[in-house]
Amino acid sequence: MPNPYFEKDNNAFLIVSGNEKILVDTGIDTAEALSALEQKLQQHGHRIEEISQILLTHKHLDHFGLAHRLVDRSDAEVFIHEDDHLDVTQFEERNDLINDLYAQKMRDWGISTELIDMLSMRNTLVNLGKSIKATSVRDGDSIPFGNMNIRVLHTPGHTQGSVCFSLENILFAGDHLLPDYTPNIGATEVTSNNMLEKYQNSLNRVRDLEVTRVLAGHGAEILNLPVRVDEILEHHRDRELKIVNILEQGGSQSIFEIAQKLFGELKDHHILLGAGEVHSHIELLLEENRVVDAGENCYLAA
Ligand SMILES: [Zn+2]
Ligand SMILES: [Zn+2]
Repeated sequence: MPNPYFEKDNNAFLIVSGNEKILVDTGIDTAEALSALEQKLQQHGHRIEEISQILLTHKHLDHFGLAHRLVDRSDAEVFIHEDDHLDVTQFEERNDLINDLYAQKMRDWGISTELIDMLSMRNTLVNLGKSIKATSVRDGDSIPFGNMNIRVLHTPGHTQGSVCFSLENILFAGDHLLPDYTPNIGATEVTSNNMLEKYQNSLNRVRDLEVTRVLAGHGAEILNLPVRVDEILEHHRDRELKIVNILEQGGSQSIFEIAQKLFGELKDHHILLGAGEVHSHIELLLEENRVVDAGENCYLAA
């Protein structure tokens, strides 16, 4: 499904057993995404009106935005993890709060007020989704599907309420695992802390699952789960070393200063994503006593 706003095109998956038709994730709330979904369903002999349940892997707009239109037409029951529940059931009410949290974090990370104002997506984002009614699920829950069960695995990291859904030998991974790039950790969740540590634990949790197919929220099918998990863990270890190196060479620095050295010139929403990633590493490095807080939102190698 087309998604011009974040990342790349989104995947949505329809799973069918008799009259039960479950959609995993929905795509963003645009006319283009809706018509892409309608067309794809039609090609396979299905209609939006027939969707019985919608499972959301997490609260991001590119995964739940369209849900309200689909529910209007199908009366489908929507499921989301309890930690992401409020952000989709009270989306409009939470929008200002979350934008304020983002602005506060970006100030703490050393991003200038001019850049923060430029980056504000307060008004854009609120048009890409709408609050929905949803049933909250937690780790270990089973959602009956035909004569099978869909199991909920809580995998916090990308967001606090990110989940994977497993059905027989298939894992629906949302943005927990992506084939072509590593999911953002640190900038895509501002209502919770220590996301990198949680993410690494969540990666280890899924690494050895007995699944043969991993279907991600963006991009192609992931063919080798343990290999992909190891690549992502390695990527974070490598990034951690680079950050420590930057601090050892350059003395006390803000998150944004580190991010600019790490990623080169950052533009548009990459400013937020890059700084957020560095922030999540700094949180972990502080906990491991490898970095110290130098005051005024700057950090030093220990
Ligand atoms: Zn996401
Ligand atoms: Zn996504």
